[in-house]
Amino acid sequence: MLKGKTAVITGGVRGIGKAIAKAFCQNGADVILCYRSNDEEAEKTAAELKKLGTEVTIFKGDVADPATAKEIAKQVKEYSGKVDILVNNAGITNDKLMMRMSPEDFTKVIDANLNGTFYMMKEISALMVKQRSGVIINMASVSGLKGNPAQINYSASKAGIVGMTLSAAKELGRRGIRVNAIAPGFIETDMTAILTEDQKEAAAKNITLGRLGQPEDIANTALFLASDMGAYITGQVISVDGGIIM
Ligand code: NAP
Repeated sequence: MLKGKTAVITGGVRGIGKAIAKAFCQNGADVILCYRSNDEEAEKTAAELKKLGTEVTIFKGDVADPATAKEIAKQVKEYSGKVDILVNNAGITNDKLMMRMSPEDFTKVIDANLNGTFYMMKEISALMVKQRSGVIINMASVSGLKGNPAQINYSASKAGIVGMTLSAAKELGRRGIRVNAIAPGFIETDMTAILTEDQKEAAAKNITLGRLGQPEDIANTALFLASDMGAYITGQVISVDGGIIM
């Protein structure tokens, strides 16, 4: 489905990003995986994915720094001269009730999740515009659609990503670039591993399908959107949440 395509995936060495990278490699794509700090996991993931037979490159950089997006765009140009898919998946949480949340707690999450997505879209879409083709997938969240207590920073960042996705889709559609967002529900990764089994069971009670999601549930949707199967889809926010929102 993605033979000969090149994909940049931020936060691509763990959790949801890694599952997306694996699905893309299994379908023939070369991938460039950006991560912030976890060198060991990055090396391990790269070695695992290379066995699938496509090119896997890892890039260490903080997406909250605009220089990272510029450097990735430069490397992409040198490496393959083109980029077909961008997945803005890197994201963090820093959950606290609003009364305990400092301006720094708020800004840190906005910087990584929202500003990071903007910097990456700006630099990579410039390459896509020249090619007159490309697909961008931004990782939103159910929290950005319905809110969550103790996540005012995170839900603001994810709601912002929804708005940016819609604006970018309108700006870039005539240049052959599709922009969509996925809004995952409760997915079992390191991000949600801090919860106890009791808390996870309680969460599952609010999910129509009665189970927490797996990273592969999100990867399958990303693969569909990235491939020609999604060729007529742009400006959409697809909830992949087992029916939390319905
Ligand atoms: P995760 O397991 O915590 O992995 C996050 C990945 O993002 C890691 O590879 C991390 O790099 C990278 N990252 C974080 N901040 C970064 C930064 N500033 N610059 C570059 N890379 C950065 O998270 P996940 O659960 O897979 O979540 C992936 C995305 O889905 C996030 O955007 C998250 O908000 C969204 N989401 C998740 C859930 C869920 O239930 N898990 C639900 C809704 C939405 P290092 O490995 O170097 O730290």
